[in-house]
Amino acid sequence: MAKIALLGPFTDKMQASFQEILPAGFELFLVPTKEEYDKLPDADYIVFRTLEIREETIKTLRRTKLIQRWGVGYDIVDIQAAGEHRIPVAIMSGINATQVAEMTILQTLAALRNLIPLHNGMANGQWLKKEFEKRSYVIQGKQVGIVGLGNIGLKVAALFRAFGANIAYYDTPRRPVEIEAPVGARYMSLDKLLETSDIVSLHVPLLESTRHMINKAAIALMKPTAVIINTSRGGIIDEAALYEALSNNRLLGAGLDVFENEPLLQDSPLRSLKNVVMSPHIGGSTVDNNGTMAKRAIENIVNVSMGQEVSPGDLVNAQYLRKD
Ligand code: NAD
Repeated sequence: MAKIALLGPFTDKMQASFQEILPAGFELFLVPTKEEYDKLPDADYIVFRTLEIREETIKTLRRTKLIQRWGVGYDIVDIQAAGEHRIPVAIMSGINATQVAEMTILQTLAALRNLIPLHNGMANGQWLKKEFEKRSYVIQGKQVGIVGLGNIGLKVAALFRAFGANIAYYDTPRRPVEIEAPVGARYMSLDKLLETSDIVSLHVPLLESTRHMINKAAIALMKPTAVIINTSRGGIIDEAALYEALSNNRLLGAGLDVFENEPLLQDSPLRSLKNVVMSPHIGGSTVDNNGTMAKRAIENIVNVSMGQEVSPGDLVNAQYLRKD
């Protein structure tokens, strides 16, 4: 029997999605917390969510033939160490682009229309119309600057287009015209995008090249009426610089689904701001996607079990993968 470890917090519904489609010859076991990492050497396959997999763990994996991410971002696994230990690491490319894109729109509208302070005011018996109508904006006719026009960025571009926004983007390298044209995306430098956009939305992975890409100097380029939305990874924004800008009304607002420390620290100053919309890294997670995600994990596992390669779109450590 080949053993699949579900590493991290998998809800009952997520586990049921696996059980429903589990092929003969495979069984699941749970490793919900870091305290149980000593079970991992029994795993032929690991599907992981939230918990990190660093080199000291990878060294102990004697049987593991695939490390599969539940989702897309893979900054919590050491892909180089896995590759050197001959273990491919796969993501589920594009699997939750719709979820994250919808969250991006939700946070943008909430930030532009001050939904959170207005709602809190209503709940507290206040009628804050006068205070907030002077800082309330629409999406239509505005420039949305998308940083990273990949699976999520493209979906975000298409949704903002439907609101009548103009789409600008920055990526490295520039995407082909066949990708840009259907969403009407105009390529520009990051500085120009920051200077000219009303809404800046981040959709790049967390890499050394993207860490603190939005720092004090970058924020200084932005319009004081702009909002910034981060549904990618916390480390991409320098949170201290963002807090300073938001608390001085140097920006209109921000939407944040991701943070430099997760869960967000109890004493984070971001909690005190009125012009920030926050959610607990839930952009990619909706219960109606569990089945599709479990299916993708099982497809990759079955392919590897039959000696096939993981599809190139999902494999993220090809450059490090030893095959000898
Ligand atoms: P993707 O790989 O399809 O797209 C990422 C894009 O960023 C690519 O076009 C790439 O060329 C570009 N890029 C990479 N490095 C860059 C750089 N230095 N400068 C400019 N552009 C650069 O990934 P995706 O599926 O669109 O996901 C994007 C990120 O969103 C993921 O890496 C993940 O961290 C995050 N994410 C968050 C959630 C959530 O729940 N909030 C869910 C899924 C994904």
